[in-house]
Amino acid sequence: MTKGKPLDDRMQSAINSQINAELYSAYLYLAMSAWFDSRDLPGMCGWMKLQASEEVEHAMKLFDYLCERGGRVALDAIEKPVGEWESPLAAFEAAYEHELHVTSLIHGLVDLAMELNDHATRSMLSWFVDEQVEEESAADSIVQKLRMIDSPRGGMLLMIDRELGKREAH
Ligand code: MG
Repeated sequence: MTKGKPLDDRMQSAINSQINAELYSAYLYLAMSAWFDSRDLPGMCGWMKLQASEEVEHAMKLFDYLCERGGRVALDAIEKPVGEWESPLAAFEAAYEHELHVTSLIHGLVDLAMELNDHATRSMLSWFVDEQVEEESAADSIVQKLRMIDSPRGGMLLMIDRELGKREAH
């Protein structure tokens, strides 16, 4: 259904690429989830499974936006993700690196929307810009914790930190 000014072809193609990138993210995190399951780490397995379903939601936000703007969704093949990592730390480092890459893709979309004076798309993308700040921060904080347990007494330090984190203001 066409409403208002149609989407520029370049914007439509870029949004379609981003739908693919978000679905690839879901695929990658599902692969990590399966790997954590094989390593008997159900907490990390569940975390990654939820992460994967969030990525599908990101893809669907873009899917729905394209439809709403009278654009045409074009689904492409999803790249096969890696399925093995050296350690939980290596997997979360890879997740963090991947989120940095996704952030650069989102910023590229914003740049294009600005170049095209496409205010509606730029506004829709602001949610993704904010979301990436959270995604990077969440992955980075897990990486830092996993690095800490590798250091002497790092595990103990994390336990004490969690204890102190329970303090509430009176
Ligand atoms: Mg995403």
